[in-house]
Amino acid sequence: MTANIIDGRALAAQIKEEVKSGVEKLKSEKGIVPGLGVILVGENPASEVYVRNKARACECVGIYSETIKLPEDISEEELLNYVDKLNNREDIHGILVQLPLPEHINSEKILFAISPDKDVDGFHPINVGKLTTGEETFYPCTPSGIIEIIKRQGIEIKGKEAVIIGRSNIVGKPVAFLLLHNHATVTICHSRTVDLPKVAKRADILIVAVGKPFIVTDEYVKPGAIVIDVGINRIKKEDASEELLNWRKDAFEKRGSTLVGDVDFLKVKEIAGYLTPVPGGVGPLTVAMLMKNTLKSAKKSQ
Ligand code: NAD
Repeated sequence: MTANIIDGRALAAQIKEEVKSGVEKLKSEKGIVPGLGVILVGENPASEVYVRNKARACECVGIYSETIKLPEDISEEELLNYVDKLNNREDIHGILVQLPLPEHINSEKILFAISPDKDVDGFHPINVGKLTTGEETFYPCTPSGIIEIIKRQGIEIKGKEAVIIGRSNIVGKPVAFLLLHNHATVTICHSRTVDLPKVAKRADILIVAVGKPFIVTDEYVKPGAIVIDVGINRIKKEDASEELLNWRKDAFEKRGSTLVGDVDFLKVKEIAGYLTPVPGGVGPLTVAMLMKNTLKSAKKSQ
């Protein structure tokens, strides 16, 4: 069997088109332009790329976006003031503080200061609580993107055995609740799970969010399963195997490194029914779902 390789970029483009239509409708019918405020602290190159991608996506769908760049040494109090200003602005419907924050800042304190009504990342404890009870709210973008991926393949989640590897607050746990609300039977695995391949092999839906390259091989996968690879790992040329050097020749020549997931793509594609690639799988959906959440917030603000 060779898996259907899921094109995350195409799915994200589809969702962004839907958001764009929603934005146009909201503008013409209610005169409201959705607005996203992004706070970026310091000069982390990866964070800068993420923030730029989000601003570009906003532009693409007609959402107003404003990036507030703040110095690395900003105090917690000053940062809280910036959050508060965005909380009180009528033209801003979604607020996002790009993580990670510098060490001297308590990230929880900052994230919890964002108004739950503008928390388009879905990290505020009120929204996390609503997620667990199944109430309508902002669901975190990567987990809700994963659900979109599965549904848009025409796969029914109800009654399926879902196994998640990774129990983080931003991916593993929230996606477990979303799958549960969609009536899957859910198992969450982690670094201390005994006999991980045996548990993973039960899955009709296998979600891997660990952050370790190629940890999931074909031994972990039930034939025909849908495998969603959330991991993003950068491998430098000097650390790459011969197989990887050949497979990602172009990337190594261009950048001297490549991005890979947590799933051993070449092996698992021979056994899975569906598989997301890295890059071009889950990643683009995360940004698309952020656009969707910002539109939702603007609609709710009426
Ligand atoms: P995390 O470090 O917070 O959590 C990792 C989880 O993996 C932990 O629960 C840990 O118990 C588990 N784990 C670690 N080693 C394990 C092992 N050997 N066996 C089984 N489980 C093990 O990470 P995270 O924030 O959930 O992110 C996971 C990966 O997903 C990272 O590579 C991250 O970059 C990526 N990510 C991608 C997106 C996206 O948009 N595509 C979004 C968020 C995270």
